[in-house]
Amino acid sequence: MSSPQVVIIGGGVAGLSCARHLLDQGVSSLILESSEAVGGRIRTDQVDGFSLDRGFQILLTAYPEASKLLDFEALQLRNYEPGALIRYQGKFHQFVDPVRRPRKLLSTLRSPIATFGDKLRLARLKLKSCRGAIQDLYFRPETTTLQRLNSEGFSSGFIDRFFKPFLGGVFLEPELATSTRKFDLVFRMFSSGDAAVPAGGMEAIPRQLASGLPSESIRVNAQVKSVDPETNTIELAGSETIVASRIVMACPEHVAHRLLEFESAPLESHGVTCFYFAADVSPVEQPMLILNGEGVGPINNMSVPSLVDRRCAPDGKSLISISCLGVVENNAEGQLRREVIDQAKNWFGTSVGDWKHLKTYSIPYALPRSNSAFFHREKFEYTRRSGVFLCGDYLETASLEGALLSGRMTAEHLVESLATE
Ligand SMILES: Cc1cc2nc3c(=O)[nH]c(=O)nc-3n(C[C@H](O)[C@H](O)[C@H](O)COP(=O)(O)OP(=O)(O)OC[C@H]3O[C@@H](n4cnc5c(N)ncnc54)[C@H](O)[C@@H]3O)c2cc1C
Repeated sequence: MSSPQVVIIGGGVAGLSCARHLLDQGVSSLILESSEAVGGRIRTDQVDGFSLDRGFQILLTAYPEASKLLDFEALQLRNYEPGALIRYQGKFHQFVDPVRRPRKLLSTLRSPIATFGDKLRLARLKLKSCRGAIQDLYFRPETTTLQRLNSEGFSSGFIDRFFKPFLGGVFLEPELATSTRKFDLVFRMFSSGDAAVPAGGMEAIPRQLASGLPSESIRVNAQVKSVDPETNTIELAGSETIVASRIVMACPEHVAHRLLEFESAPLESHGVTCFYFAADVSPVEQPMLILNGEGVGPINNMSVPSLVDRRCAPDGKSLISISCLGVVENNAEGQLRREVIDQAKNWFGTSVGDWKHLKTYSIPYALPRSNSAFFHREKFEYTRRSGVFLCGDYLETASLEGALLSGRMTAEHLVESLATE
């Protein structure tokens, strides 16, 4: 193979976004992806006729990069109902944004989930978060999400019943220690758009990105073993070597650290465990996120994806997705699953006993931790000087949007560096 000018290590959405933006600028690239398909953390498996995302994920339609780069219409997005069904004091309570669903105003005002003051504060926070340019969010003073919620005056009851399970499910950590930069982005996105999934599963997103690239520009089952930043030489498993003018490290941060032999430690990560079950009857009627507002038991959040996208389950069957924060060792999976089933029985009755377990995903590296300034500008500059560029969600807001943005920014810096050669 002739030596390509740019090699991108990693075919997740950051690497794919980078390749697409490079192509737009007339720069071709070669993606080396270690697994059997592109997508990275966004993959969907077919099991017994069900489409299972590898961990519960959603696309927020207000994401600016995603709106520009993806063809939402072709993805045939299916939306979740705005709001949540919250389990509290032995019952489910709908908590819905009355601006988006005015007919739910009364039930939301009466909801015991929040005090009247909390509801007003939520409306105020929503207005504040949607004001100004999106880039400004990244330059606001940074603190933890919990500190921000406290300083906005929310009651501790409302934080426990709503924000902890809701944002805990987004950040994959229950303490809400995540940076307000990510909170500001996520809150604004939830306030101004829909939470959606493509028909057939989240993997349609990376597949659509890849379909805009020449097929010969992606090599799967191509694991990079080492990178020499002095000579820009990449060694693949099987001892093949490739020399490139520019290298983009679009693999997870800990892999980039290992390959480049960085001395500093990578960010810690948050893990999650997602259980999928098949049922003859859906336990709820609403295509809504279900949150555990009681703070006890292993379930953080759950949903019935087949109510949102009929295509993800065979006719007459319902798909149930349950997320627990943290990872579980193989030998403890059975015990955790029993606890999850017991909690679900308590919520929905004995018919839960008929649910059939489909698969459990325990994902240790689901999200890089975003506790404070997570823009690694120093590392970024170091690598740019050597012709090796870092790229990935950990450089921006750890999310699909952050990964797409990082891909674009890396492509822009890389094209700039080629122009000044
Ligand atoms: C369970 C879960 C739930 C999530 N929920 C949401 C959500 O609801 N909304 C949201 O916006 N985001 C969510 N995210 C985050 C989002 O999926 C990620 O931020 C995004 O996919 C990261 O993309 P990436 O390209 O930066 O990294 P990755 O997807 O990790 O891609 C890195 C790629 O590098 C490859 N690679 C690794 N080592 C090598 C090597 N040596 N050689 C070659 N290739 C290599 C990997 O196989 C992988 O394909 C969630 C993530 C998970 C796991």
